[in-house]
Amino acid sequence: MTGLLPAVLLIPALRGVIFLHSVPSDTPWRQFCPKCYMSIRLIGPRGRCPHCQVAISPFPYSVELLALAVLALLAWRISDPLALAAIAWISVLGIALICIDVAVHRLPDRLTFLAFGGGLLILAFGDINRVGRALLCCLALASAYLLMSVVTPNGMGLGDGKFALSLGLILGWYGWGPTLYGAALGFVFSGLFAIGMLLAQRITMKGAIPHGPFMLLGTLVTVLMAA
Ligand SMILES: [Zn+2]
Repeated sequence: MTGLLPAVLLIPALRGVIFLHSVPSDTPWRQFCPKCYMSIRLIGPRGRCPHCQVAISPFPYSVELLALAVLALLAWRISDPLALAAIAWISVLGIALICIDVAVHRLPDRLTFLAFGGGLLILAFGDINRVGRALLCCLALASAYLLMSVVTPNGMGLGDGKFALSLGLILGWYGWGPTLYGAALGFVFSGLFAIGMLLAQRITMKGAIPHGPFMLLGTLVTVLMAA
């Protein structure tokens, strides 16, 4: 359970991280409350500006409860402390990333690389063969996503490819099969969601859906089954 510590320590900072990075590309990071213009660092679980109490963050307690639920599921299924620490770290940063992806359709580099760097640093203490395979899987998955972002510029973005580095790393820890399965599951989930949204007439055929949340969901479901 000590493996969960780095990820648990991240949870109180998540809302501040989401607020800071929820801006369109080529725009300065958001550091001030849009109403009272005071500087914002940390945001409490109620999602309100600490100065003027205006709502500036996702639904109260939603981010915290989601992160805790994911960590509880991971702790239940994964006995290897090293794998648990790395996957928990990537998952909690992944939750910040998907909130930003839903808000502004981007996955900022500094968070995708922080997730990947931290995960790799933890796994590097593990079995060398397994680390090597995980690295190969993550490079393969990221390459596949980068290729898709070139072929379909309106669908995948470069951010998805960089997020795939982290997800490929944890899927690759369990092997090539789970890597393929996890990636495919992400597309199944996003396809089902797109069909649902089309049927509900909430989007048109051209409306782009952020893929980050489905990539993370496919990865977590696969990891929970493979562990
Ligand atoms: Zn304010």
